[in-house]
Amino acid sequence: PAQTMEELVSLCKRRGFIFQSSEIYGGLQGFYDYGPLGVELKNNIKNAWWRANVHERDDMEGLDASIIMHRLALRHSGHEATFNDPMVDNKKNGKRYRLDHLVKDQKAEVLAKVAEGVGEQPENIAAVSARLMENPARAAELLVAAGVRDSHSGEVGEWTEPRPFNMMFKTTVGPVPDADSYAYLRPETAQGIFVNFKNVVDSTSRRLPFGIAQIGKAFRNEITPRNFVFRVREMEQMEIEFFCAPGTDEEWHEHWLEKRLSWWEAQGVPRGKIIVEDVPADDLAHYSKRTYDLMYDFPTLGHDEIEGIANRTDFDLGSHTKGQAELDLSAQVMENADSVAKLTIPHPETNKPVVPFVIEPSAGVDRALLAVLSEAYHKETLENGNERTVLKLRPHLAPIKVAVIPLARNKPELVDLARQIKADLQSLGLGRILLEDSGNIGKAYRRHDEVGTPYCVTVDFDTVGKGEDAALTDTVTIRDRDTLAQERVAIADLAGWLQGKLR
Ligand code: ATP
Repeated sequence: PAQTMEELVSLCKRRGFIFQSSEIYGGLQGFYDYGPLGVELKNNIKNAWWRANVHERDDMEGLDASIIMHRLALRHSGHEATFNDPMVDNKKNGKRYRLDHLVKDQKAEVLAKVAEGVGEQPENIAAVSARLMENPARAAELLVAAGVRDSHSGEVGEWTEPRPFNMMFKTTVGPVPDADSYAYLRPETAQGIFVNFKNVVDSTSRRLPFGIAQIGKAFRNEITPRNFVFRVREMEQMEIEFFCAPGTDEEWHEHWLEKRLSWWEAQGVPRGKIIVEDVPADDLAHYSKRTYDLMYDFPTLGHDEIEGIANRTDFDLGSHTKGQAELDLSAQVMENADSVAKLTIPHPETNKPVVPFVIEPSAGVDRALLAVLSEAYHKETLENGNERTVLKLRPHLAPIKVAVIPLARNKPELVDLARQIKADLQSLGLGRILLEDSGNIGKAYRRHDEVGTPYCVTVDFDTVGKGEDAALTDTVTIRDRDTLAQERVAIADLAGWLQGKLR
């Protein structure tokens, strides 16, 4: 695995996985563009998730809801009032920080002073931050007295009172801006699922338990985007809202924890690298009964969240439904006089209308890509003493499945045959097959090791019957990325051979 984030950043730029957004104009902080290989890898991760969570299950439906959402949807979801991060400014240089990030960046003795000042343990940054927000005036004094340093300048800062900052992006819809013409870019894909609950149930006749899955962009105006694509302002999420009868929620929560861990394992992110954090009650989001955070051991960063699996009770549908008063909701919800839909479904046993409980496994595509890359990244010293960088991606995730390489670029018989082989393999639908006619086989191998291409197929003079061994006519060499073993295979058997390995 990668030892530092720097190695990954450098590989991503060098080989075309990820670029800074609008780079030629100085870049836009917290936004990234996925390059030629990045888009393939990202699509492969999303496809693997969709296959496992929608196609291979009989209790799931898919959805692709709009990114811009009605302001009332995000009011009743609770985001207008509570989707806030605590923010604090350094009066000396005008730099702005997310309070918990700033506290976390401090040296142990400074952190200890701040934690002691609010009567919390220094390990529990979330609780320290929450206590500081309870009394902003005191918090400002404490940050100064403890000698909290500016993360950029390293100097002791002069801190303002911390205050909540709403992370939703707002935009105007239509040509006439007026008081009600604003809408939000969704801060999570989940709300698109909740507001479509009735549509999906009515159109599919689903009964409990069942889930709705969605992959799509979400936007958060993060105060301090950082750590490459780990924390960005435009991200992509893979979310499931799994609806079940109240009382069966805890069992389904365990089911999804297990399913999700085994999915990560199948993507090359082993359980041993993920800590499952059972989020302590006082750190839980207001809607959650219990949450498991999957904390992956990122290079440089250490353990941080790649996925949250929350038991959200009947909070979401209860918030978006009409007629709340008659529904015997277990969650505390804001009054809703705007919704026109009753978001109930027959209880599987009593057949009485019930607002179901929800289990939500929510993973970030960008963080998934980072974890997958980090696990796949290897630096090896070969027998001849040479070093190589190799991405040992699972074949189903590799951006390029096979590179077909004519041994010499200026020999039409080799190039034409290689092109024909590429076209034949491409038609199998295994993913991208690349014709690599750069003419330098050593360089081609190095490049494909570095971008994780599982197999290189070489067309040489033996293949076209112009070599020394006539028995090798109509055969090609397949080179294995991980073992470096080379095998001679008849062109006629190539498709079957590769299908066996790449499925
Ligand atoms: P954090 O505490 O790191 O800000 P969160 O707890 O707010 O994250 P959730 O709201 O649970 O995150 O979002 C679900 C998933 O979406 C996260 O597990 C993560 O993979 C992804 N995610 C959330 N915020 C970002 C972001 N700014 N950039 C990239 N991915 C993100």
